[in-house]
Parts: sequence; structure tokens; C-alpha cells
Amino acid sequence: MNPRDPFRWTIEAGQDLAAKGLLRMRRQVVPLPRGRCRLVTEQGESPVLWNFASNDYLGLAEDPRLNAAAEEATAECGTGARASALVTGRTIWHARLEQRLAEFKQTPAALLFPTGFAANVGTICGLVGPGDVVLCDRWNHASLVDGCRLSGAKLRVYPHGDVATVERELDKALDARRRLIVTDSLFSMDGDVAPLRELAHLAEQHDAMLLVDEAHATGVFGDRGTGLLEACGVESPHVIAVGTLSKALGSQGGFICGPKSVIDWLGNSARTQVYSTALTPGACGAALAALDIIDREPQRRTWLAERSAEIKRILTAAGWNVPSAVAGPIIPIIVGSNDHVTALAEALLHASCMVAAIRPPTVPRDTARLRISLNFAGGEGGITTLLDALKFANRPPRSTP
Ligand SMILES: *Cc1c(COP(=O)(O)O)cnc(C)c1O
Repeated sequence: MNPRDPFRWTIEAGQDLAAKGLLRMRRQVVPLPRGRCRLVTEQGESPVLWNFASNDYLGLAEDPRLNAAAEEATAECGTGARASALVTGRTIWHARLEQRLAEFKQTPAALLFPTGFAANVGTICGLVGPGDVVLCDRWNHASLVDGCRLSGAKLRVYPHGDVATVERELDKALDARRRLIVTDSLFSMDGDVAPLRELAHLAEQHDAMLLVDEAHATGVFGDRGTGLLEACGVESPHVIAVGTLSKALGSQGGFICGPKSVIDWLGNSARTQVYSTALTPGACGAALAALDIIDREPQRRTWLAERSAEIKRILTAAGWNVPSAVAGPIIPIIVGSNDHVTALAEALLHASCMVAAIRPPTVPRDTARLRISLNFAGGEGGITTLLDALKFANRPPRSTP
């Protein structure tokens, strides 16, 4: 170790993570058809695994129709967008996709961002600043938390789903310039749903804005597949929705949907949009094809709803700790200790199932968990293999927190 290396502290920081069982490896993966993959390690490639650790719920990332659409857009406009949207980066594919997203979500307008993360940070910072108050669910996604912090608004973190605290904080914030409530719709580590109707109602009563992040719900919930706002019947001028093209839509990028004035304002002011290169035309093409499939093939989301309810029932009956609020294709099994969850994930790998072991700081201490994400492309074959493997796995005691 060079004592003058200014980065020498990173060596200790890494050793420290390893000692706590928290060091994560950046894996290399070979995606395979039917929701499967291989892991590439120093020892070579793993056997074929069912991938229960992707966000490709509808199996669209491997759909040849998305490939074809991406190729068409790429052939027409090239691989890169060349500039930010406000300069020369916004092609006909971007314009079409924005219009299509607005129609899909039944809002007046939509705006693309480079990623869902950028959409959240840029939107929150565009909506509130010093002199405002932002209310953030304790379990919100990191991108929402970072957006809240970066905005400079007064940040109030409320206990998960706690509508009473939101109401109290809104009452106290009536003198602030603006009030913004920020929430995931489907929570990504717990698989449960925010009290969207109650939050929208509170926003209406308190002249507040409500930002709902539908990253894991878009394409999955609702009769038309638009998300949990649709499924919960929330229609309010106080709500704007964020989404990603990178999960169920099988592409890449983020977007927001809302009133035209909001979209125009954010298109002028959201720094992650204005100062970042527009999406690749190929990503827009693929997302357009995904939206067509979501319209025409509702059986994909119906399958997810039915199978997730069934799996939750089977695992709970078998004594696994699956939170009762789980409502969709993200099914966590709370295990408790970091070592135990790592051992379980390892055992599942040997049984050909790739399941994420989620540990702190992503989730609270002592709530390390397996996180099963369903994939339509993996179908029944994957599920049977997983449930069989869990029958023989070493279950934690029921009292685990
Ligand atoms: C994944 C995720 C994002 C980020 O979306 P990307 O397009 O992957 O950057 C934002 N919010 C939530 C809740 C997410 O799960």
C-alpha cells in the first residue's frame, strides 16, 4: 500500500464491508431466453438459472418485437441522441413516445428523462426548493430520497404508509410556499402498496402536490396496465406520476406524466433533463413496442397477479415469513440475519434459482430478506423449480423480526 495514495482509505472501507458481510460483488450475467441467465464467475459460467432477480416482470426485455423496434429506430436515427432534448436530441421517436406515454397514463403530457432515477431527482428539485416542505415515506426508493435532500426543501420523513403523520405535517406546513408528498406506489423491497387514495385526498385538502413513483407498477397493475393509480382509482389534479421504461417495459429511461404546465416547466428547469443527453432512439423504439404489447396482451399482467397471490399463499402456509401486505410480483421472504440470507440465496443457486439476497443498508437491520421477482417469460417452469427448492431450504425460526 502506497502511504501517499489518497485513495488508500477505500481499501479499509472495502475490508470493513466484507467483515460485516455486506460486501457485494458486481456480477457479470449472460441473459438467456425464457427468463433465465448464467452467472459468470472466475471459475467460469454457472449452469442455467431461473432469474428471479430481474425487474423484467412482463418478460419484454427478451421480446423480439422490442428488438425489432429498437433496430428500426436505430437504423433511422443512429445509436446516440447526440444532444440533450432541448438542443437537438429529441427525435420523432422521443416525441412519439412522450405522446404515447401521456395517452397511456391518460394525462395531458409526458416528459422523458435519461433514467427513472434522473426523473425523480429532476422532478422533485424542479417542484420544490428552499421555503417549501417535502414529505417522504421512510421506505421510499433512494432516488426519491436523494431528490428530496437535493431540493433544499425542508424534509420530513414519515413512518411507512403513515397517513396520520402526513396529515399532521401538512397541517404544520400550511405557511410554507409549497407542499409536496413523495411516495413509491409499489414499494420495491417490501412489495406492498402506498395508501394512494388517502394521500391524494390529503393533498387535495392541503393544497399540496403528490408525486407517485410507479417504477415497479407501470405495466403490471390496473385493468389497462398503467399502474397502481389506475388500480386504486386515484384521479386527481394534485397527482403527478413518475415511471421507468427500464423495468416492466424492458427498455431504458424514465418519464413523468402530468398537466401540460408541469411538463413544460420541468422541460425547462429539471436539471437532470436539461443537462443530460436524451435517450437513445433505440430505447424509445423498444418502449413504444412494449406499450403496444401491454395494450394487447393483458394476460401477462393477469398471470403475474394470479401467480404472485398463489406463491404468497404457498410460502406462508409452509412457514416462510412473507409480509401479508405483499400485493404483486415482488415477493420478499424476511429472513433476518445477513449470513442466513446469503446462505439461503446460495442454496437456491445450487437449485438453479437466482434470487436476490437483500441486506442492509438497502433494508433495515435484522430484516435481511430474499426478494423473489416474478417474470412472465420464466413461466411455470421457473416457479415449480423455485417452490421445490424452498421446500428443502433451511427456514429461519418464525419469530425472526
Ligand atoms: C428502479 C427504480 C427507480 C429508478 O429507475 P431507473 O430507470 O432504473 O433509473 C426509481 N424509483 C423506484 C421506486 C425504482 O424501483
